[in-house]
Amino acid sequence: MLTVKIFSFNPVSENTYIVYNEGNEALIIDPGCYFDEEKKTLAQFIESNRLRPVQLLNTHCHLDHVFGNKWVYETFGLELFLHANEEQVLKFAPQSGKMWGLEFENYEGPLHFLNEHDVIKLGQDQLKVINTPGHSPGSICFYSEAERFIIAGDALFKESIGRTDLPGGNHDVLIQSIKEQLFVLPDNVVVYPGHGDSTTIGHEKKYNPFLKG
Ligand SMILES: [Zn+2]
Ligand SMILES: [Zn+2]
Repeated sequence: MLTVKIFSFNPVSENTYIVYNEGNEALIIDPGCYFDEEKKTLAQFIESNRLRPVQLLNTHCHLDHVFGNKWVYETFGLELFLHANEEQVLKFAPQSGKMWGLEFENYEGPLHFLNEHDVIKLGQDQLKVINTPGHSPGSICFYSEAERFIIAGDALFKESIGRTDLPGGNHDVLIQSIKEQLFVLPDNVVVYPGHGDSTTIGHEKKYNPFLKG
C-alpha cells in the first residue's frame, strides 16, 4: 500500500511528491522546494511521519522540479535518478533560474539514468518507468499498476498538457506520448501532475481539449 503526499512549492506552484509505504520507506519525486520554509515543511513531514527517504527521482529537469535536488542529496544522502535525455536540461537549469530571477545551486552529485520499463522498488511495491517525451526530451512518468496511479510530471495536466516551447520541447511528440503511453492505461488510473489538481486517465480522454479527435 502506497501513500502519495503532495506539496505545492516555489513561485511556479510545482507539485512535489513523496510516495511512501507502510514500512515508512519514501521516494522523493521532483523536490521543487525553493525557499527555506519549503525545505523545512518537507523535512518536518518526513520527520513527523518517521519516513526514511530511499530514492530521489526527477520526472524531468526544468528548474521548478529540481530546485531541491541538492538539498535532498545533502540532507538525506540520496543520489539523483533521471532519464539520460534530461542531463542537458538539468545542466541548463541554473541559467534559466537566472533568467527567471530564481537563482539556485544545482545538484552536482552522481546521475543514475532511468529508462522505459525500469522498475522503481519500494519494499514490496513498485513503480514502472514510462517514457513520455515532448514537454522535455527525457520526460518520464512513474506508474503504480497495482494502485492505479501515475506521477506524470508536466506531460499531462487536468484538462491541459505541458508547454512545448521550451528547449527540447515538441508538441507532436508530446501528443503522441500521451496517446500511446498514457491513454492506454485504465480509465480509473489517478494522474498526479507536475502542476495543478490531480485527475484521471478517463477524465482526460473525455475532456482534455488538446487531445480531442
Ligand atoms: Zn516542466
Ligand atoms: Zn513544471
